[in-house]
Amino acid sequence: MGRVVGIDLGTTNSVIAVMEGGRPVVIPNSEGSRITPSVVAFNKEGELLVGQMARRQAVLNPQNTYYGIKRFMGRKYSELSEASKRVPYTIRRDELDNIKIRCPRLKKEFAPEEISAMILRRLAEEAERYLGEEVTGAVITVPAYFNDSQRQATRDAGRIAGLEVLRIINEPTAAALAYGLDKRKNERILVFDLGGGTFDVSILEVGDGVFEVKATSGDTQLGGNDFDKKIVDWLADRFLEEEGVDLRKDRQALQRLTEAAEKAKIELSGVSVSEINLPFITATEDGPKHLEATLTRAQFEELCGDLVSRLRKPLQRALKDAGMTPFDIDEVILVGGSTRIPMVQDLVRSFIDLEPNQNINPDEVVAMGAAIQAGILAGEVEDILLLDVTPLSIGVETVGGLTKKVVPRNTTIPVRRSEIFSTSENNQTTVEIHVVQGEREMAADNKSLGRFKLTGIPPAPRGVPQIQVSFDIDANGILQVIARDKTTGREQSIVIQGASNLPPSEIERMIKEAEEFAQLDRQRRERVEKRNRARALADQAQRRLREVALDFGSQFANRYRQDIDNICKEILDALEKEDDRRLDKSIADLEDVLYELNREARLQYKQEEGEGFFESIKKTFMGDDEEEYDWRRQRQPNPRYGNRDYPANYSPRDNGDSYPSANPPRYKPEGGYRIGKKNLSIPYENDWDDDDDW
Ligand code: AMP
Repeated sequence: MGRVVGIDLGTTNSVIAVMEGGRPVVIPNSEGSRITPSVVAFNKEGELLVGQMARRQAVLNPQNTYYGIKRFMGRKYSELSEASKRVPYTIRRDELDNIKIRCPRLKKEFAPEEISAMILRRLAEEAERYLGEEVTGAVITVPAYFNDSQRQATRDAGRIAGLEVLRIINEPTAAALAYGLDKRKNERILVFDLGGGTFDVSILEVGDGVFEVKATSGDTQLGGNDFDKKIVDWLADRFLEEEGVDLRKDRQALQRLTEAAEKAKIELSGVSVSEINLPFITATEDGPKHLEATLTRAQFEELCGDLVSRLRKPLQRALKDAGMTPFDIDEVILVGGSTRIPMVQDLVRSFIDLEPNQNINPDEVVAMGAAIQAGILAGEVEDILLLDVTPLSIGVETVGGLTKKVVPRNTTIPVRRSEIFSTSENNQTTVEIHVVQGEREMAADNKSLGRFKLTGIPPAPRGVPQIQVSFDIDANGILQVIARDKTTGREQSIVIQGASNLPPSEIERMIKEAEEFAQLDRQRRERVEKRNRARALADQAQRRLREVALDFGSQFANRYRQDIDNICKEILDALEKEDDRRLDKSIADLEDVLYELNREARLQYKQEEGEGFFESIKKTFMGDDEEEYDWRRQRQPNPRYGNRDYPANYSPRDNGDSYPSANPPRYKPEGGYRIGKKNLSIPYENDWDDDDDW
């Protein structure tokens, strides 16, 4: 079993953390950032991009760039609000009312779970690179208000990504876990989590290593994106009025507007005025049009007043459910990037009359808590007992389609509850148990979790048989419902692991496809690395030529120049024509020539430094048995490249490890070949086409 990590799979950003030395550590991605945008894209080569790379190209590729996918997880198309359907990519409803996301580039469709799996996979790969170990398991966080199918969809995403999802935990619970590590006294904590797409309020009791969630409430359709949309609408309405063009209808313009709106919003958390400039946002018959606007914090607060009001209700409800008043709260924790908005902080202050605790980085606290939970499961963290709650009430449908709640919302799990039911008709021998989840009175308005029948009830007048229905929820939130006829003892039960929107065969297919993607990805990366390596090698060869010319004179260098120049040309040509076989061959040839050059150069040094020293170096570099190479003999041109020969006993390509470790080959870049453009500088005078892989 490899490592188990904690993942905060966010609407806007995701973070991965792991326990190291008994403390949670956030793992930076290969771009050096501790948070990875939850954005997935397919570029024009059909290559998968995840994170900042995907986000950066979103404007130019809006239909193949997917963000905010968490809002679609585990939801039916018909459950979506009009606002959440307004995205620059295309979503559609399939025959089962499931959401499908179109990818014109690959000419295929994805389920939201598959897109999320791509984010999870990439995060796990980053962690593997960081840890140098395989990552096989994960604890993934979800908003406390997520229902069963949303949780199940998250679990499915993990499976598709090839991870064993050991636990799904609530984000505020994770935040409290991270927070509570340092806290040992009894406290009541309100976790106020406003991220990119969701809002959660949770009230927890923390102390003596025990966490208990007393109540949760929230809104799965409210987050920082809504604040962005307010600014987008404000800008677009103004533009429509002034120029008669609705920028929201142009996907690229909408994407640029959204990015500019978010930037302005973030700026307004620190300053009171933000300038928005979007040149060439569109063109009309009169020519190109530019968008320029100034947004003040006061204007922004006016635009978003209704959103802030919407934050109040879940706050009130959570307190009510916990049986508390604002005065009972000892500490307020802010989680999620949007809690940096001053008016949001003001709302919290005015509601609870406490200065919110901002000691913990609001972007990272959830992932850190998830890592701690992973540590608890792996036995690395002791003395913490995490008590979770049911996010929504669970019950059964009764006569007239009414819901009878058996396990109310916010009940601490694990839990076992039972109720006695009876028949509704005379001589009824079968009852159907319909398990539902939700707060609505009518069962049809709640989420159906499953149905099963209990048969063989002895005929009796209605209301006489006694059917005991027991609900058993374990620590993982897995529900077992048992119906038992008290007269006969007959029993029937079902286990509800979560309401997946995806049938098992679909999930299997998706797992296979994700693996294929990962393999394709690897091949692509290897190819890019090889191409970069070829360029770096050619550059090193030219540099080495200059060095030996300086050290031993141009006559020495000239013996290799023709070979090296020819092979470098060959490399350039193979790169341009994308001929990988020729590239492999040229790389190997250049390595051979360089090996020979370095070897001769070393002998030259030895010669210059005298025989005594020569003997000792000879032993180090060549071993005792190796025949001395006569560096003085003339090189003959290589028939293929015009100049090549080797010592009779030497076959460099067969002998990959022929460099003594104390003296690594100079043409191999230190630290290996990096694929990031930033890490590769190729100041070679030749006309490399620097951009063809990027
Ligand atoms: P999260 O889901 O926690 O990563 O939060 C992401 C959301 O926080 C996005 O909507 C961001 O625009 C928003 N955000 C990040 N930093 C700030 C800031 N300084 N002011 C306002 N919103 C922010």
